[in-house]
Amino acid sequence: MRLVLLGAPGAGKGTQAVFLKERKGLAHISTGDIFRHNLKNNTPLGIEAKKYMDAGQLVPDEVVMKMVGETLDGFGDGEGFMLDGFPRTVAQAEFLEGRTKLDGVILFKIDDEAIVKRLLGRAVCRDCGNITNIHEHDKCPSCGGELYRRDDDNEETVRNRLKVFHEQTEALIDFYRARNLLREINADGLPEEIFARVLEQLES
Ligand code: AMP
Repeated sequence: MRLVLLGAPGAGKGTQAVFLKERKGLAHISTGDIFRHNLKNNTPLGIEAKKYMDAGQLVPDEVVMKMVGETLDGFGDGEGFMLDGFPRTVAQAEFLEGRTKLDGVILFKIDDEAIVKRLLGRAVCRDCGNITNIHEHDKCPSCGGELYRRDDDNEETVRNRLKVFHEQTEALIDFYRARNLLREINADGLPEEIFARVLEQLES
């Protein structure tokens, strides 16, 4: 199965990807994670991406498409995956369409103010990548690892990322609806409740 997880930053795509990976055995391809990994290792790609990420802007299409193209080259015909954070523009979606056939696009719907609240409390585990809330935990509840807050989870950058979502990514809703691939879910609630909705959509 090949899926796209679509939704604003903070809509819960990454959290649900962890569940889906476990339940459905799908590989998790997160373009944001690939950029952060490159940044940590000081690669030219990471250094190039950082200026956009810090501002809450999109990394240019050519850069992202080259990176995703190389990642997809590593997958054989029968291997399933879910893309988290890609595509984010119509040009990226057209590129993807030329590369692979999708089985579905899950749209995580939640309003902006709920997202701001979520992201300003978001903490990520350095060891296992688990996503949790800084107000509820001081260590990772799953593995005991150290929690950190992402540099771009500050209010100014979050608001900018939401603006970019509405201006550049939201058009993908119609793009995928027209192709009959869109499955919409309400992304407000507890992670387990949302996962039940995701499974319901995938299995219906
Ligand atoms: P994310 O972890 O998905 O929230 O992505 C973090 C940041 O990485 C974004 O705010 C962008 O600067 C950059 N990024 C990730 N995926 C893409 C993409 N598909 N197109 C352009 N920029 C991206």
